[in-house]
Amino acid sequence: MTKRTAIYPGSFDPLTNGHLAIIQRGLKVFDRLVVAVANNPEKRPMFTVTERKAMIAGALGDDPRVEVDSFDALLVDYVRKKGVHTVLRGLRAVSDFEYEFQIANMNRHLLPDLESVFVMTGEDYFFVSARLVREVATFGGDVSAFVPPNVLAALGRKLKR
Ligand code: ADP
Repeated sequence: MTKRTAIYPGSFDPLTNGHLAIIQRGLKVFDRLVVAVANNPEKRPMFTVTERKAMIAGALGDDPRVEVDSFDALLVDYVRKKGVHTVLRGLRAVSDFEYEFQIANMNRHLLPDLESVFVMTGEDYFFVSARLVREVATFGGDVSAFVPPNVLAALGRKLKR
């Protein structure tokens, strides 16, 4: 039987427990996931792509079902290159819907056989975003409930505390 694979793209700047929940749920539906870190310098990320990939790999341990990769062009070009035409995305509140709807439709326009699959977050993490984690951590707030331990340590090192 062929393995069902999906690409889970995002900034992951940094990986949060919300992302991890989507990965765990995604693995109930797909046999393999490619977690793909978007290299987006114009977003002025806190962590480099290499750091973000290392944090994801560190949090997941040695799970043979998950590949951690990065891409720096259009998602549809990356999808074509990988030969995986299913994209996994997470939905939090209604506010995510409009943005995700736009991206999914644009991607489908660019690559008609691309399918986007959405997984809904659990109530524990619907308010967690990487941006909020960065902001709270930058100002010294405790984000330990929202990120895995290795990401908490990386934030501490980055922010020198
Ligand atoms: P963010 O910076 O908003 O966390 P990313 O680009 O890293 O965003 O997110 C990648 C994908 O993961 C998006 O589909 C986003 O909606 C989803 N996602 C991020 N955080 C969560 C969460 N807490 N629950 C569900 N989905 C999430």
